[in-house]
Amino acid sequence: MQRVDTLILGGGLTGLSGAYHLDRQAAATGDLRLGDWLLVERDARLGGLTRTEVVDGYHFDHTGHWLHLRYPEMQQFVADVMGDQMLRVARRSRIWSHGVLTQFPFQQNLHGLPLEVVHECVQAAIEASLAEARGEHVPVHNFAEFCVQRFGKGITDRFMVPYNTKLWGCPPEEITADWCARFLPKPNLSQIVAGALGIVDETAGYNASFLYPKAGGIESFAKAIAARLPSAKVRLNTVPVRIDLAARTAGLSDGTTVSFRRVLSSVPLPDLYAIVADVPDALRERVGQLRCTSLRYMNYGIARPGVLDDIQWLYVPEPRYPFYRIGSFSNAVASLAPAGKSSLYVEVAANCPDSDGDVQLQVRQFLRAQGWLESDDQIEVQDVRHIRYGYVVFDRPYFGARADLLGHLESRGLASRGRYGGWVYSSMEDAMWEGYQFARAAEFE
Ligand SMILES: Cc1cc2nc3c(=O)[nH]c(=O)nc-3n(C[C@H](O)[C@H](O)[C@H](O)COP(=O)(O)OP(=O)(O)OC[C@H]3O[C@@H](n4cnc5c(N)ncnc54)[C@H](O)[C@@H]3O)c2cc1C
Repeated sequence: MQRVDTLILGGGLTGLSGAYHLDRQAAATGDLRLGDWLLVERDARLGGLTRTEVVDGYHFDHTGHWLHLRYPEMQQFVADVMGDQMLRVARRSRIWSHGVLTQFPFQQNLHGLPLEVVHECVQAAIEASLAEARGEHVPVHNFAEFCVQRFGKGITDRFMVPYNTKLWGCPPEEITADWCARFLPKPNLSQIVAGALGIVDETAGYNASFLYPKAGGIESFAKAIAARLPSAKVRLNTVPVRIDLAARTAGLSDGTTVSFRRVLSSVPLPDLYAIVADVPDALRERVGQLRCTSLRYMNYGIARPGVLDDIQWLYVPEPRYPFYRIGSFSNAVASLAPAGKSSLYVEVAANCPDSDGDVQLQVRQFLRAQGWLESDDQIEVQDVRHIRYGYVVFDRPYFGARADLLGHLESRGLASRGRYGGWVYSSMEDAMWEGYQFARAAEFE
């Protein structure tokens, strides 16, 4: 039996950051125990969602993966592993609705929409603001109510509800507003009115600019971290098949058993619970309450530059289209397509019943209708991809179920972290941060 201090399950950014920072902590403190870890990854490559598939010179991330950093420690981490190999890119995103292109975010850029839509949205935003001033705001129960109270019924009906219904695959009445604290721009009335008049605030939202590797796609970042990890401590193509938290052992698919003092896992929570021994029945029922969308998206390699003009990603809220977002990797970073060509992704609505072929037809029709695609343009790559775990659904049972499930593991020495280990809506930086925090905490245990 192999003995390690920390068993790391999953080699996405959470696991990679955990491993990297454990080694850093070991070097900094002289506590060699911290560097005694084993990382077990199911797939043949590290990186998880931050891998990049290269097909005929086109680079496809698992849909857009743009890096936003708010913690100085994570800025330092990226600088340490990437040196000068990162670009800073200014956001150029748009929304297609009501027959026109407008700036992102919708709620702060009503200018350019048909006048009756602008009027409806501004009037309702004023009413919502007056209601707040009169102290009439009440506790909200779901995302739709939150939007009406915060933005007014116009913006809610014209963008928030249709877009989020496509993204989450369920009516916004079924989800809470808790996922959106950091990710949803919340302009005040003055900013909504300014946007309706055409005064554009390019800095709105958390993603006004982002970092991205100069070459090789987002996987370059994961590779740069992995290159700093001793390969003897990484086991690919391997999964845990049974974890006994009382005995502190894990049986692995390669037939070996590992004993550990503690675990950092970014394995999706339902999959993890399937292999943890001796879980009380009540908790197993809690696992059944976890909801998550599965993503279907399509990659395109097109032999023409600047498809989507210079737009990096486009939101498409209206229900008549089966997709909710179209992005151009190569408009964000030119190295993501061969010279003179474009690499695109299209994210299909979670509630879309259409077949892949039907969706692809509608994508081509949409791009042609906008003048972004000519009938003789060569589509050199066209494929369909799936992400089993996409967006964790913040419905009413969410908080209780998550707290019980994570608490049970935590009290037995297993830290379940990351986007699907922690069962949250979170970013690459959050994953890196959680790995870092895990390593920092280890020093004091
Ligand atoms: C469509 C989409 C777009 C996104 N866009 C952005 C963006 O623009 N910017 C941003 O900051 N964030 C973005 N994110 C979020 C970001 O991808 C994640 O927060 C982050 O990559 C999560 O890292 P992780 O290590 O927690 O999980 P993962 O990347 O999922 O890594 C988990 C790892 O565990 C492995 N694994 C799974 N099961 C097992 C098992 N049983 N045994 C061993 N290993 C296992 C997996 O193979 C994987 O390598 C996006 C996410 C999605 C879904």
